Amino acid sequence: MKEYIPSKIEEKWQEIWDKEKVFETPQRSEKKKFYNLVMFPYPSGTLHVGHVKNYVIGDIVARYKRMKGYNVLHPFGYDAFGLPAENAAIKNKIHPEKWTFKNIEIIKSQIKKIGISYDWAREVITCTESYYKWTQWIFLKLYENGLAYKKKAAVNWCPSCQTVLANEQVVDGKCERCGTEVTMKHLEQWYFKITDYAERLLNDLEKLEGWPENVKTMQKNWIGKSTGAEIEFPVDGLDMKIKIFTTRPDTLWGVTFMAIAPESPLVETLVTEDRKEELSKFLRKVSLEDRFKRTSLEAEKEGFFLGRYAINPVTKEKIPIYVANYILYEYGTGAIMAVPAHDQRDFDFAKKYNLPIRVVIDNPESSIDASKMEKAYEEEGVMVNSGPFDGIRSTKALGKIIEYIEKEGIGKRSVQYKLRDWLISRQRYWGAPIPVVYCEKCGVVPVPEKDLPVKLPKDVEFLPTGQSPLSLDEQFLNTTCPKCGGPAKREADTMDTFVDSSWYYLRYVNPKLEDKPFDKEDVNYWMPVNQYIGGVEHAVLHLLYSRFITKVLHDLGYLDFEEPFENLFTQGMIYKDGWKMSKSKGNVVSPDEMIKKYGADTLRTYILFMAPPEKDAEWSDAGIEGVNRFLKRLWNNVYSILPKIKDVKAENIQLKDKSEKDLRRKLHRIIKKITEDIEGGFKFNTAIAGLMELNNSLSEYLNKSRELNLPLLRELVEKLTLILSPFAPHMAEEIWHDLGNETLIVNEKWPSYDESALQVDEVTIIIQINGKVRGKILAKVDTNEEDIKKLAFENPKISSYLKGKDVVKVIYVKNKLLNIVVK
Ligand SMILES: [Zn+2]
Ligand SMILES: [Zn+2]
Repeated sequence: MKEYIPSKIEEKWQEIWDKEKVFETPQRSEKKKFYNLVMFPYPSGTLHVGHVKNYVIGDIVARYKRMKGYNVLHPFGYDAFGLPAENAAIKNKIHPEKWTFKNIEIIKSQIKKIGISYDWAREVITCTESYYKWTQWIFLKLYENGLAYKKKAAVNWCPSCQTVLANEQVVDGKCERCGTEVTMKHLEQWYFKITDYAERLLNDLEKLEGWPENVKTMQKNWIGKSTGAEIEFPVDGLDMKIKIFTTRPDTLWGVTFMAIAPESPLVETLVTEDRKEELSKFLRKVSLEDRFKRTSLEAEKEGFFLGRYAINPVTKEKIPIYVANYILYEYGTGAIMAVPAHDQRDFDFAKKYNLPIRVVIDNPESSIDASKMEKAYEEEGVMVNSGPFDGIRSTKALGKIIEYIEKEGIGKRSVQYKLRDWLISRQRYWGAPIPVVYCEKCGVVPVPEKDLPVKLPKDVEFLPTGQSPLSLDEQFLNTTCPKCGGPAKREADTMDTFVDSSWYYLRYVNPKLEDKPFDKEDVNYWMPVNQYIGGVEHAVLHLLYSRFITKVLHDLGYLDFEEPFENLFTQGMIYKDGWKMSKSKGNVVSPDEMIKKYGADTLRTYILFMAPPEKDAEWSDAGIEGVNRFLKRLWNNVYSILPKIKDVKAENIQLKDKSEKDLRRKLHRIIKKITEDIEGGFKFNTAIAGLMELNNSLSEYLNKSRELNLPLLRELVEKLTLILSPFAPHMAEEIWHDLGNETLIVNEKWPSYDESALQVDEVTIIIQINGKVRGKILAKVDTNEEDIKKLAFENPKISSYLKGKDVVKVIYVKNKLLNIVVK
């Protein structure tokens, strides 16, 4: 009998798939399209089995959908620019490009060995000129439409990565990439105006029914919409007003001071002459504080009185204006109305600087005494000390107060978002140059489309110094102005890699197009992506940016759709010894080693069998052994009968006895189950359990039966091979071929199940006497009570129990149970 040796069959089938180009997707087809996409990797090292999980899940979906008759687009590429590559290149003293392409080669060979069905003809690598030319084109489109702009602002700075970071890349005050505490710098930087799309990005989340709720919630919170009022406070003695935003206009009568962010230009305007010197001391001190720490609830509140007063527009009282360390310039207007009685941070500040605390919302349960307050009362309640609104419930008063403010000309209803504009400048080398030049005469001039790409020079000193490496390259830097022909300097910053990945799914549709980033008609046929698969860590970075860029391109008339990803699946991680796999922990499992030991089919099947794919799972050597044993047993079962069924057709199947009926029922039940498991939320682990169950039934049948039912076995092996094929495609091809088929199994149809085979025709009825189980009888399905009773009473075992007793009552539960009550 043929032995199961994966190394003998896997590479062979991979070569055949390649040669026959079976995974190359026709641009158009009669079939319905299915765009199946996995998030592409940073080529910053070799893959471990945790990375591989993403690709295996995607491959099952792609292979299944192909068998279901779809025209499936299943591409792969590399997010090849960016810090991971640059940092690793520096560490290994090698050019980032060389290092990146070396890794791409390794990753590609790793993936090919796993047998993932990618259309390699559509491979996209974001650091190639033919790709980043169009990333630069997207920048120009945003610039032309007022959605890319430059401004000087306080930005997040990672001292270790030596570059600025977008807000999305700062996690708990630390650099998302390296974990270093982020500091602040004032720099002139390029931004994308994602805030113009805040409302649509928020509202359209509702349309994304195929997205996990947690991802939508994360985006919603990140966008952070709040409704309230914009109120203007006149400054005493100056002809100006300070604008603030508040979600609590109901506390307006309780405002007893104002606080301004140290970074706000208002500080310089407001400070009185005699306090200037002391102010600069205070500002220097604050600038040394960490801005995430200083604004936290627990941080020590510190402030400085500017010598100036504002007028509370409803009470007309004079209130002092402070500069305070707990106010962030980036949020709201950089100034707040402070209500110590009803905001904890204002309360702490007021206590420290002896400022009045006035209760304007009283606790309906027990009245608050302002002089005895130990913390702010932030809940709702009944309005007091609030002029016309006294006695009204604060939640009810909110709308009326906004109306009042509008009528009095003090302010207006307003909506605010936490979302900030997307900072895209990076002071690093390995990225797409920003296509802009600076001319002494003309100012900022975008590079015309015909001059794209602005090529990234290769011979550059790229060590991180805090200064853009390109600014040290005179040859790159000095150019002529496209407008006036005079001398000009190029922008030396490169773009955030998240710009590269915000549109790559469009490029897969036309990866080789030279005069356009994509063809409108082709993109409208293929997009949106039907199934997107990746990690939940991209919830507010990549997934939000991609939605934004799609909406912009839609509004500019390049796309007919507004949302890029119809369904999103976020997979769980693979742990080893309780930890996330990492080189430093030494707990990395390499797919190459596992393939060498067990074969790709075992690796694929095990990764999916470990746990539901959305859950985290712990790698187990015994687990992969077990899956390998299952595949061997299946192989041995099939090959033990293969010579006998090779020339048999799965036709005119006659079922002689119960064991044959049961076996065929099991086959069709499992086809039904696996189909439903895949369709109904990717339950691959239970689908594989179904394959194991079917294989066990086959073993049982082969062990017991004397005369084999060959047409039945032919049907079973054929269909078992088909439903096995997405999981263990190499083994499936081999069996399919050995069954005498000349086709490739990847081109076969997914089997349907025979509804009539699922029918159970005999059932086991439990017989109880006075509630105790006394026996079982076999009966035709749906036999009536009279006939069941007859069968039971005729049964010798049962009748012996009944001897000499009176039957008082008989209860029959159809197809299940007969309970006889006797005395
Ligand atoms: Zn960093
Ligand atoms: Zn010029």
